[in-house]
Amino acid sequence: MNYINSPIEKIKFNKKELFVKRDDLLDKQFSGNKARKFYYFLQSDIKNIEKIISYGSAQANSLYSLSVLAKLKEVKLDFYVNHISSFLKENPDGNYKFALENGANIIEKNCDDIDQYINSILDEKMLFIEEGGRVKEAEYGIQILAKEINDWALENSIKNLKIVLPSGTGTTALFLQKNLSFEVLTVACVGGSDYLKKQFFHLEQDEKFHPTIIEMQKKYHFGKLYKEFYEMWIKVKNDSNIEFDLLYDPLGFLALQKVYDTNFVYLYIHQGGILGNETMLKRYKRKFE
Ligand SMILES: *Cc1c(COP(=O)(O)O)cnc(C)c1O
Repeated sequence: MNYINSPIEKIKFNKKELFVKRDDLLDKQFSGNKARKFYYFLQSDIKNIEKIISYGSAQANSLYSLSVLAKLKEVKLDFYVNHISSFLKENPDGNYKFALENGANIIEKNCDDIDQYINSILDEKMLFIEEGGRVKEAEYGIQILAKEINDWALENSIKNLKIVLPSGTGTTALFLQKNLSFEVLTVACVGGSDYLKKQFFHLEQDEKFHPTIIEMQKKYHFGKLYKEFYEMWIKVKNDSNIEFDLLYDPLGFLALQKVYDTNFVYLYIHQGGILGNETMLKRYKRKFE
């Protein structure tokens, strides 16, 4: 696979200028921030490995991306999930469906400490990747993303740049900030700002490399449906002709809207994830239309 520099496009956001880094277009199969995070494993020689092991939700973007990685590397994937709803089992769609098609072995396992469980069954022929790619190896691919951004800013003589992206584990935002001199702004989509700050410390002790967390007035719960999310997503889609993810990006744009300052140039990172939109859109339509 050829890994190419993803394009940067200019769009209008609330009638103001916004640049978008189209990491959703990196590759047909292996795209978004999971591709950046797993790029190290794609590039490295894992000849001794027979199986990748990870865990997360049955609809996670990381499940799908790991299934692609496993296929490309010709190894098995065991992906542990807490629970698969009977509805999803009978009506597979989104990341779950496509991961199954790629041969992923999705295993239901209800236990208190899945990390501990996996560590207890691990042997030298298995490669364990923590939930959502929250691993130090992720820096390798994100460094390349940072370099692409830096080169673009230099070429276009942009000095007052700010980077914006929504966070789950915060791995992408953190490693971007570590590798860029521009300020990286993010918002916690999972577990709130305190959780996100802890994640930053988990990966980097030195706070000067931590991204800036935008605080929102309202507390949003991951995976829940909010009218303002849906409206924002539709508005951005209509204004830009770009489909963004429905789990993270609506909050990303609400946060950007809150802090947008015309003295700066903003670059929003499209982190992929639109395979999961199929499921989310059905839920949104049922609820709000
Ligand atoms: C995984 C994911 C995120 C969160 O990335 P982190 O590095 O865990 O913060 C954001 N957006 C999309 C579309 C994702 O798939």
